[in-house]
Amino acid sequence: PAPPDTLDVRHLTVAYGRSVHALHGVSLHVPPGRIVALLGANGAGKSTLLRAVSGTLPLHNGAVEGGSIAFGPTVLTGRDPAAAVAAGVVQVPEGRRVFAALTVEENLRAGQLGTARRSRAEARATAERVYGLFPVLAERRHQAAGLLSGGEQQMLAMGRALMARPRLLLLDEPSLGLAPQVVRRIAETVREVHRQGTGVLVVEQNAALALELADHACVLENGRVRLEGPAGELSRTDEVRRLYLGEE
Ligand code: ATP
Repeated sequence: PAPPDTLDVRHLTVAYGRSVHALHGVSLHVPPGRIVALLGANGAGKSTLLRAVSGTLPLHNGAVEGGSIAFGPTVLTGRDPAAAVAAGVVQVPEGRRVFAALTVEENLRAGQLGTARRSRAEARATAERVYGLFPVLAERRHQAAGLLSGGEQQMLAMGRALMARPRLLLLDEPSLGLAPQVVRRIAETVREVHRQGTGVLVVEQNAALALELADHACVLENGRVRLEGPAGELSRTDEVRRLYLGEE
């Protein structure tokens, strides 16, 4: 039987319509509670991989054409986001979509939809844990989310995902467009979430940040795994230094 809380992606092929093959036979493993970073140029297939795992490929044209995805004993191949969330796999979407007209608190509450029913006390404890990670959200809990800064919205999107108490958190470009100080805050939170035992699969354009956070990294190129290994080792390879870390 598959070990619990392990993400096991095997030979995954995903296409958009008939002509665009975004992933060709990609295999990837996230052991329980580990941080794995996905690197690669624009269009390499990173978001597609996350979306296939979380069940959020665009319904009109995205489809898994081959291979398999499992989280522990649960097969997620071709399943919907509800199935992924129920299994403990939750994605923070790219572009930090929050419900602008709802308050911070209401956004967090929405993060529990589709998860196992919990008592009010448990729900409150989970919300307090999120507020503990992001004190600024506690200060603004009654404000409309649309009034938050970009960084605060990213925190809220992460907090909302954490309300589902994921066993694996999928992060798509968490640092995109954020000021360095906010990026630090987000990175600390990722570490804290990891310390609390949650696995993380993170897509990040900021390769230096991703390699610093991750235990293991995987470089995608044109929908295939080009390199992979312990983050420390990868960050010393010539290819990664030149192409992703901007060194000579
Ligand atoms: P980026 O950082 O630019 O988001 P990425 O590595 O996440 O890059 P994907 O977004 O997964 O890459 O895209 C992989 C390929 O699939 C690209 O060629 C892209 O143009 C194509 N693609 C992505 N989404 C769709 C879609 N909804 N319909 C058609 N093609 C798509």
